[in-house]
Amino acid sequence: MERAYLQRDGAYNGLFLVAVRTTGIFCRPTCPARKPLPTNVEYFPTAKAALAAGYRPCKRCRPLALDEQPEWVSALLSDIEAEPALRITDAKLRTRGIDPATVRRYFRRHYGLTFQGFARARRLAGALGQIREGHALDDAVFASGFESHSGFRDAFQRAFGAAPGRCRNAEPVVLSWLRSPLGPLVAGATAAGVCLLEFSDRRILEAQFATVSRLFGTPLVPGSNAHLERLRGELADYFAGTLQRFSVPLVYPGSPFQRRVWEQLLHIPYGQTRSYEHLAIAVGTPTATRAVGRANGLNRLAIVIPCHRVVGKDGQLRGYAGGLRRKQFLLDLERSHREQRVRVETPPANAALSLPR
Ligand SMILES: [Zn+2]
Repeated sequence: MERAYLQRDGAYNGLFLVAVRTTGIFCRPTCPARKPLPTNVEYFPTAKAALAAGYRPCKRCRPLALDEQPEWVSALLSDIEAEPALRITDAKLRTRGIDPATVRRYFRRHYGLTFQGFARARRLAGALGQIREGHALDDAVFASGFESHSGFRDAFQRAFGAAPGRCRNAEPVVLSWLRSPLGPLVAGATAAGVCLLEFSDRRILEAQFATVSRLFGTPLVPGSNAHLERLRGELADYFAGTLQRFSVPLVYPGSPFQRRVWEQLLHIPYGQTRSYEHLAIAVGTPTATRAVGRANGLNRLAIVIPCHRVVGKDGQLRGYAGGLRRKQFLLDLERSHREQRVRVETPPANAALSLPR
């Protein structure tokens, strides 16, 4: 934690907080304020714990706010929303005083795409909407800011894996980006339910988008629907420790074996763990521990299908697609809230004896 704090390593944001004894203030690991002497620093797992110890939140890095969007990001996003055909080049970014490299890093980390990639997806999503509403292709090409039909067709084909004309009746997978204490997540849903939930800094995200598009035979477009809004609410409750079972509808196509594994994962109770060996027995293939591990790793619905609850026989965490720190965080979160609940529901037999005197 000290190393992450001294290096202002953004990968640790949300995983711990730093409190400074001399000022009585607590910060995110990435706080731009001057670093105090390491001996004056105390570390906390949550803001609640830091507050309970009498520390106040820092006004510069605002540790109580969920990974807030910088102003320049909000400005860029609203410009794209207002005029999807708008091209914001690196040169234009610079004239607005924004460093293109920062923009690229931010969008990669938060959206799993470059800024230009995100803007292109948004433009094409608009075009797809128009095509599906029955507008002529010419209008869609013009409205999305492409100068030629062939340029539009190429970009469309690359983004959605199908020619514009073939998408007239396609029900797209809608993608939204959600904030969490563990960093941004990207979520996808069809009309039937949620089909994707991943940490958006995963390197394989673009490949994952392609897989989902292929599995459902439809394009992915930025947007939202009722399932994604419900997921947003349920995730917030989960991270607050007040939700133990997700009820948003899920869609997870896969081989019969993969589906058996994923369904077993859904049966692991909140706050508990199971070994890969246990899971292999539960799906009826006791010797297929490795195949079970692979299917576990291919789970596309992080957190909601709780693959983080699978650990080694010795209790070691082993692997997690979103990183071991996140796995540990999720297990700790669940354990602490499960214990609180157990304490409330089953008071000890000698409860009467421990009443305040
Ligand atoms: Zn701070």
